Amino acid sequence: MVKKKKRAAKKPARKAKKKAGKKKGGPAKVYLSLGSNVGDREEYIEQAIFLLEKNPEVQVIKRSANYETEPEGGAEQPPFINAAVAVITKLPPEKLLDVCQEIETALGRDREMEWGPRTIDIDILLYDDQIISEDKLQVPHPLMHERMFVLKPLKEIAPGAVHPVLEKSVEDLYEERKAEVGEKYDDELPGFKEIKGGSYDDYERW
Ligand code: AMP
Repeated sequence: MVKKKKRAAKKPARKAKKKAGKKKGGPAKVYLSLGSNVGDREEYIEQAIFLLEKNPEVQVIKRSANYETEPEGGAEQPPFINAAVAVITKLPPEKLLDVCQEIETALGRDREMEWGPRTIDIDILLYDDQIISEDKLQVPHPLMHERMFVLKPLKEIAPGAVHPVLEKSVEDLYEERKAEVGEKYDDELPGFKEIKGGSYDDYERW
């Protein structure tokens, strides 16, 4: 009797290649917004960047200049200094938020008034291309595309970064918002001026 040859197990059809994306577990590129409108505002921004950089899990790779901006959101309060930084980190988003909040607390942030004055406010704007919608954390930051004080410094360091929900670049979001709010925010006007604080070229790493 001729033995039937055992058929070689059929190779499973090759899975469609996964959409090119980030390797899981690799470091993420994250953009943070910093704001201060109490006391020595520039110093609080520097301190916040210093404390971020001091964290062994966080590497600050780029920072914008400092911009002085008019407060938004209704509450009567002094003008802000705003800046944006790019960081590389292996911390998952929730842990990074904890780090940011610890820095806010270390720098004397008082959370009594929601939109009130603050020594330092640190927001996570973009975390790679992740979309997070939890009570404690929403990424992209839900108001980032409406806030010139966020978009302007962010555009300086990451014009091509893409908002994964709106699927638009930071530069496009900035231009759209600028068209909506007119010339209110212009380097020439006191409402939005670039002030000392330097760009990354002047930025000494600790
Ligand atoms: P704020 O007044 O801007 O400091 O708001 C802080 C609160 O917003 C915290 O309770 C956070 O849990 C929450 N939150 C939600 N999404 C974000 C984000 N992307 N970055 C920072 N804080 C966030």
